[in-house]
Amino acid sequence: MSSPQFRSRLAPSPTGALHLGNARTFLVNWALARQRGWQIMLRIEDLDGPRVKPGAAEESIEILQWLGLDWDEGPTYQLADLTPYQAALYQLASQGDIYSCTCTRKEIEAASLSAPHGDEHELRYPGTCRPSQPVPLAAEQLLNKGTALRLRVPQGVVKFVDQFAGEQSLDVDESVGDFLVATKLGLPGYQLAVVVDDARQAIDQVVRSDDLLSSTPRQMILYEKLGLGPLPQYTHLPLVVGEDGRRLAKRHGDSRLSYFRELGVPPDRIIGLLAEWCGLSDRQPMTAKGFLQLFELQCLPFEQVVYTSSDEAWLLGND
Ligand code: GLU
Repeated sequence: MSSPQFRSRLAPSPTGALHLGNARTFLVNWALARQRGWQIMLRIEDLDGPRVKPGAAEESIEILQWLGLDWDEGPTYQLADLTPYQAALYQLASQGDIYSCTCTRKEIEAASLSAPHGDEHELRYPGTCRPSQPVPLAAEQLLNKGTALRLRVPQGVVKFVDQFAGEQSLDVDESVGDFLVATKLGLPGYQLAVVVDDARQAIDQVVRSDDLLSSTPRQMILYEKLGLGPLPQYTHLPLVVGEDGRRLAKRHGDSRLSYFRELGVPPDRIIGLLAEWCGLSDRQPMTAKGFLQLFELQCLPFEQVVYTSSDEAWLLGND
């Protein structure tokens, strides 16, 4: 039975094809939701400008269905309507919480050489364009090509308890500093868009991979500045990495689900491998429904999952 007060989302970015790591996160998110009666929205996060690949959104949807996942609402596309993000930027601007920034990546990189910080997605911003006093911005200065917008990040540590990863604390000012809320392409930044959407779509359960763990305190600051809430509960899952310990990518061979599908690998094998990665069973083919019956969050290993050549051989039936 679905209880309307709990809502979760699957939020693929169509910047590339879904790979086995994405599939594990979506499968766990889906299973948690279906076990606990949360509603599921499908949100396509297509604001990442030139990195968005034509056809990738449609392909992701098809692949999720092929795996046996379903959802109750959507797909919605962020790019289809920028007004909610504009309204949020307008609010932040009128509060004096954001400012325009014209720094190039090179300039920021040069500054971070002397004070290295940041995370894998964002370098620490040295504050070059930050005005000494908050300066309100006019509506026409928001979402303009050529000028990025940054949030004046308050000092201090942000704390939260993750439903899987446990207690977390991060000083956003020290780690990434004033982060982007709009990019030079004139589009809302990821941190802003995700908060605006999670709040307006009443998402209270966010399940995603732990490369986004350090983004959560940034998002919590935005919730506060925008007067939104309550905060969702966050569940961050360990990443799937290659044998070299680096996040799953092209260098580890082809881990795209479309690749396996084209080779005739049945979805049951993919789910079987994901089930093993979730600590459920030794590799045996299973359907999404079978996974749902077995899945327990407590069984999920805390360590990163390593995708090996023997996993690939098993998927391809060469074991
Ligand atoms: N679109 C993001 C991704 O594919 C997920 C963002 C989120 O869950 O907050 O990694």
